[in-house]
Amino acid sequence: MDAAAGIGMTSDRSRRRMVDMLRHACVADERVLAVMQELPRHAFVEEGIASRAYEDTPLPIGHGQTISSPTIVARMTQLLLEKGVPGRVLEIGTGCGYQTAVLARLVKEVYTIERIAPLLDKARRHLRDLRFYNVRFKHRDGSGGYAEGAPYDGILCAASAPSLPVELLSQLAPGGRLVLPLGTDEQWLHVIERTADGHLDERREAVRFVPLVPGVA
Ligand code: SAH
Repeated sequence: MDAAAGIGMTSDRSRRRMVDMLRHACVADERVLAVMQELPRHAFVEEGIASRAYEDTPLPIGHGQTISSPTIVARMTQLLLEKGVPGRVLEIGTGCGYQTAVLARLVKEVYTIERIAPLLDKARRHLRDLRFYNVRFKHRDGSGGYAEGAPYDGILCAASAPSLPVELLSQLAPGGRLVLPLGTDEQWLHVIERTADGHLDERREAVRFVPLVPGVA
C-alpha cells in the first residue's frame, strides 16, 4: 500500500470516529453526518496540526481565527436544514472554508463572505482543490450581509454579534432561517425564522465564537 492510500485509510477511520462522536453529541441529521464522513477536514488546516483535525476542538487557522469544532459545524448545519434543505445559502465568516464545503455539498448555491483576505484566498484554494463549483466568495464586512445575492433561504453566521444585524434578517426569504451566535461575554446560538408578518426567534444553546468584527482586513 502506498503512503497516500495509508493516509486516506487513517483519515477515513478518524472520520468514522468523529461521526460516532457527533451522534453522541445529539447530531441526528443523516444528511449532515454523511457529508462530514466524506469531507477531508484535515485538508482545511495546516499540515502541522492535520493529525488533530478529527478531534472535537476548534483549531487555529491563522490571523487569530479558528476553524469551528466539528460539533458546532454539525449542529449549525442541522439547525439550518431542520425545516427542509434551503436552495441558496449565505455564510458569514468563511475562515478556512470547511463549513462552506459542508454547506455546498448539501445545498444548491452558497455565497460566503470573509473580512480577512488571506483567509478567503485559502478557503477558495481548498474548495477548488476539492472541485466545488457552487460557491461564490466575497471579500467584505459581512455584518451587512450581501444584498446582491438576496433573498436567501438560509443564512449561517460563524462570528458573534452583540445584537441581531437587521440587514441579515431583511435578506432572508419568507420561511428562510438564520442561524447565528448573539452576545459578547455570554453568547447563545439563535435560530431566527422569517415569517409572513415578522420573525420568530428561538434561543438554542450557549456557545463560544470569535466576535463579528466590522471592516475588512
Ligand atoms: N466557519 C469557519 C469559522 C471561522 S471563525 C471555519 O470553520 O473555518 C469566524 C470567521 O469569521 C473568521 O474567519 C473571521 O475573520 C470572520 N469574520 C469576523 N467578522 C466578520 C465580518 N464582519 N464579516 C465577515 N467575516 C467576519
